[in-house]
Amino acid sequence: MSEKKLPISGEKITALADSFGTPFHLYDERAIRANVKEFLQAFAWAPAFKEYFAVKALPNPYILQILAEEGVGADCSSMAELYLAEAVGLKNKDICFTSNDTPMKEYEKAKALGAIINFDDISHIDSLDQALGLPSFVSMRYNPGPLRQGGNTIIGYPEQAKYGMTDAQIFQAVVDCQHRGVEHFGLHTMIVSNELNIQYLIETAVMMFQLAVRVKERLGVSVELINLGGGIGIPYRPEQERVDLAKLGQEIEQAYCRILVPAGLGQVALAMESGRMITGPYGYLVAKAIHYKDTYKQYIGLDACMADLMRPALYNAYHHITVVGKENQPCDHIYDVTGSLCENNDKFAIDRSLPKIDMGDLLVIHDTGAHGYAMGFNYNGKLRSKELLLMESGEVKQIRRAETLEDYFATLDYPGLGKRKK
Ligand SMILES: *Cc1c(COP(=O)(O)O)cnc(C)c1O
Repeated sequence: MSEKKLPISGEKITALADSFGTPFHLYDERAIRANVKEFLQAFAWAPAFKEYFAVKALPNPYILQILAEEGVGADCSSMAELYLAEAVGLKNKDICFTSNDTPMKEYEKAKALGAIINFDDISHIDSLDQALGLPSFVSMRYNPGPLRQGGNTIIGYPEQAKYGMTDAQIFQAVVDCQHRGVEHFGLHTMIVSNELNIQYLIETAVMMFQLAVRVKERLGVSVELINLGGGIGIPYRPEQERVDLAKLGQEIEQAYCRILVPAGLGQVALAMESGRMITGPYGYLVAKAIHYKDTYKQYIGLDACMADLMRPALYNAYHHITVVGKENQPCDHIYDVTGSLCENNDKFAIDRSLPKIDMGDLLVIHDTGAHGYAMGFNYNGKLRSKELLLMESGEVKQIRRAETLEDYFATLDYPGLGKRKK
C-alpha cells in the first residue's frame, strides 16, 4: 500500500489556491531530496554511480538545480533540454545526451557542453564524425530486440521500438569508433517504463552486464560505463507498492559481482536515467471544481484540463484524487472528473468513487511530478498552468507562471493578435 497523503494541510492548500489561483502543480522539495538520497544510497556500492535525471519528465530549472545539488546530472534529448542543463551549471560528464533521430545542431550543442554522447543509431557515428569529429568517449544505445522476451506497456516489445542498435550493430559500432580514434566506451539501454516489478529491472542489468562481457571477449574492449536507462515505476494506485530501492541496489550489486567482476570489469561505472521515480510522486495538480453536470453520468468539471496533465487521456492512466477537506468522508459518489477540452478523452478520472463534491472544492490530483506539466499541449487554445515549489523551509515559490493568451498568440503575426497586437 502506498498512502496517498497531501504534502501540506488542506488549510495550507486552500491558502495557496487563494493567493496563487488555481490550477497549479505543486512540487515538494523536501520529499524529492529525501527520495534522491535514498536512491543514490542504494547504489553507493558501485565504483561510481551517476543518476542522470530525464529532463523531459520535469523540465524546470529550479527542479534541476535541486537535483544538481544532490549530485544528480541531466539526461537530455533535445536542444531545449541541453540549454536547461547548461543553465543550472551542468556540463561534461554530468550530462548524458540520449537522443534519437538527432538533428546535427543538437549534437553540436551536446558536444560543446562536453556531454556524454549516447548514439541511438550506427549511422549517426559517421555523420557526427564527418560534421564535428567524435569525442574520445562515446556510448551506444542497445536494443536487444527478440533477444529480450516480454516487453512493457508503455515501451512495448523491444523489437517494435525505434530506439537503439541491434546486437550485431553494437559490436560494429565499437569497432568503427575505434578506427575513428575513440578510446572510451559506454553502453546504454532503456527497455522498460513505469515498471514496479524489480525483476525486470534486474534482468535489464544482467543483460547489459553480459553484453559488456561479450564486448570484452570479442573485441578486447573494456567498456567504462553502463547506463541502465530509466523506467523505474511509481505506485500511482494506492494498492500498489513502491519499488524497494535498497533491494534493487543489492540485487544489481549481486549481478555486478557475479558477471562483471570475474570478467575483469570490476571498475565499470554505473548510471541510470530515471525520471518518473525521482519526481513523480512529489508533484500534485491542484484544481477547483467549477461545474457539476448530471446527465447519463455525473460529471465534475475542473478548471484544469488535459493541457495540464495528459496521462489519463493518453494512457488511460490512474491518478489518485483527494478532495481537500473531505479526506475522511465516505467515497459514496461516483463521478467522471473532467477538463474543458472538446475532446471526450479529457477526463482525469472515470467512474471514480469520491466524497460528494461541491462547487469550489479543491481537488488534488496525485503523482503529477513527472510527465505531468511537461507533456501538456495547447490544443483547443488551452493554456498551461503555473508550477509552484514547496521549499524545504515550508515557503512556497512560483517557479513558472501560467501561460497567457499573449504566449499562445506570440508566434502569430496577424492584426489584433501576436506581434501586431498594438
Ligand atoms: C523517458 C526516458 C527516460 C526516463 O524514463 P522514466 O520512465 O521517467 O524513468 C530515461 N531515458 C530515456 C532515454 C528516456 O527516453
